[in-house]
Amino acid sequence: MTLGPLDKPVQFLKGVGPRRAEHLQRMGILTARDLLYHVPRRYDDASTITPVALAQVGMDVTVAGEVRSKGIVPTRSGLRIFQAVIRDDSGLITCAWPGQTWVERNIRKGDRILVTGPVKHFHGRQIQPREYVILEQATHTTHTTPPIPPSPRPPGTIFSTYPASEELPQWIFRRLFELNLDTLIGQVAREEYLPAPERDDLGLMELSAALRDLHRPPTLARAGTARRRLAFDELFFLGLMHASVRHQATRESPGIEFARTNRLIRALHDSLPFALTGAQAAALREIYADMTSPRRMNRMLQGDVGCGKTVVALFAMLLAVEGGCQAALMAPTEILAEQHARGIRRLLGGLPVELETLLGSVTGRRRERARARVASGEAHLVVGTHALIQEGVEFEALGLAVVDEQHRFGVRQRLALGERDPRPDTLLMSATPIPRSLAMTLHGELDLSTIDELPPGRRGVTTRLAGPHERAAVLREVCRHLDRGRQAYLVYPAIEESERADLVAAEAEFERLCREDLAGRRVALIHGRMKGDEKDTVMRAFQAGDLDVLVATTVVEVGIDVPNATVMVVENGERFGLSQLHQLRGRVGRGREGGLCVVIAAGSADNEPGPTPRLEVFARTTDGFEIAAADLAIRGQGDFFGVEQHGRGTELRFADIVKHEDLIRPARDRARALIDEDPQLSAASQQVVRARLERHYGDRVKLFGVG
Ligand code: ADP
Ligand code: MG
Repeated sequence: MTLGPLDKPVQFLKGVGPRRAEHLQRMGILTARDLLYHVPRRYDDASTITPVALAQVGMDVTVAGEVRSKGIVPTRSGLRIFQAVIRDDSGLITCAWPGQTWVERNIRKGDRILVTGPVKHFHGRQIQPREYVILEQATHTTHTTPPIPPSPRPPGTIFSTYPASEELPQWIFRRLFELNLDTLIGQVAREEYLPAPERDDLGLMELSAALRDLHRPPTLARAGTARRRLAFDELFFLGLMHASVRHQATRESPGIEFARTNRLIRALHDSLPFALTGAQAAALREIYADMTSPRRMNRMLQGDVGCGKTVVALFAMLLAVEGGCQAALMAPTEILAEQHARGIRRLLGGLPVELETLLGSVTGRRRERARARVASGEAHLVVGTHALIQEGVEFEALGLAVVDEQHRFGVRQRLALGERDPRPDTLLMSATPIPRSLAMTLHGELDLSTIDELPPGRRGVTTRLAGPHERAAVLREVCRHLDRGRQAYLVYPAIEESERADLVAAEAEFERLCREDLAGRRVALIHGRMKGDEKDTVMRAFQAGDLDVLVATTVVEVGIDVPNATVMVVENGERFGLSQLHQLRGRVGRGREGGLCVVIAAGSADNEPGPTPRLEVFARTTDGFEIAAADLAIRGQGDFFGVEQHGRGTELRFADIVKHEDLIRPARDRARALIDEDPQLSAASQQVVRARLERHYGDRVKLFGVG
């Protein structure tokens, strides 16, 4: 592929010599395109500029004027302050940069500058700028960097502020764009891939116009409209990457077209002690449609704790068995696998379906026997842990692979179950609900089914926030539950390898509890540094009712079902993420009785600020989707995209999945349609798109066979 002008190194641009090129490279700007996409991080609207005479102490102002004098002023305390006096038509004012003497080098007498910041009282009025922009350079200056002629045009009314560095201050970027933007815009115009009618439908500007307006917006609103276009681009190319991964997973190798006889499905329906919820039935219809189509299923089933994903998975597994195949369910821990096996056996009742378990702890003869039953096809359903994907495990004909708590597995592990011939359909399950917009951006390669409804008649969990001073009363309440024969969880923030102090604190607190508040109760500690089988032993004892209280310094097993546990106390609630708290809370209230969750968090005591808004959201609702949406709104999307499970983070620079929510589906649908029609993007008209996809995601998409 020949390099277009935008892919040339920055040296070729006007105003860039070898030294400046090096500085730009240090900021990650290697090519002309990188510079074009180095867009302002903020704008100042000159129509809100205050005449300096009207700047009063206490105000936050933007002023513009010419630097009349400047200098560094020492103070008695030893702090050195850079000061510049600027003048506009209305008068003079001092600007002061305490401790930032290096600014002295960037501002010259005679420069026209724009500053923004609070007006303080210090020997009269003075502005302490948060930001400054050189609007026009003094003409007489001698400077170490190559001389740049003064700006040929008067600056507009909106001032762009770029991410800058000490080597490359604002004015250099402003100057570089004055010299090069028009050319770059002309070049990028050739890369437009969206036809005008489609742009109009979505309210999107043309690509080149958007980039122009991002650098030189005629109004602030236009800068927002321009950003929207780049947000769409970002979502579209992310969507293309996902679509091509999806294509490889589901289209390239044929899937199994299961024949639905209803022999087992009907029998399970008839024997279920409950009716499926509408949401469960809808999810099942989507799964059946995938499984009975010739394409391979690659679907995620998400729904809150307790919404009944297991029974949905079981119906899907029975469809596979009806079609003459086997189905496997993989869970992240032995306890969960055993729990699934028990639950499934109970639901199956007397149906003629053979279930086998494969667990790491089972070895020797018993393991050989289990493996033999799986290899011969005698076992129709196989439930297990990582033991399912170990060397030596053979299936007679695996048709459906279900992975529970999919995020607990690495990508390789998750895929391992599906990598055989013919490739089984896959269903990934997640009990961490996230908003659909987020799911489509994070897991766009998967199809998504959502169960957003709980079975009727759940008593649910009552949630309360408490301050540390209420701890003793809370523990007395816990004891009242224990007196009725119930069980309790006390949860402390998760212990990381590095957080030795947490473990010490938790152990000390554990001992204190055993002596004092919980004296005479059967209490055990479970923490993140214990080995898997040690943890399992404790969890099993709790599950069996041999323990009253579980003090957990690690997140209590997601999905663990102990209906007799009715109360949970979470310490240092402010240190947990909302979704994590929600997962924890799901451990109680699983029986007939309903549950109580008390979150102890600093900040609820007298004269401290109240509990964080985050925790208030948590206490107010038990809807996992609402909580996830609040989490997203409060924390921002960064947390979700930063350490994405696919390995390299998928950073979104322009797209904000809340603000640009309406673009997410159109971008994804367009990307999928394009890849379905032309998987290799080989049409001449798609060259621009293909080049850009390779540039962005080349290492993540083995898209183009050769090369
Ligand atoms: P999760 O989605 O958290 O995995 P489970 O599948 O473990 O939820 O279901 C939780 C409980 O609800 C189980 O005991 C299950 O049998 C029961 N259940 C599932 N679906 C329904 C329903 N439609 N009506 C009543 N109870 C249901
Ligand atoms: Mg489950």
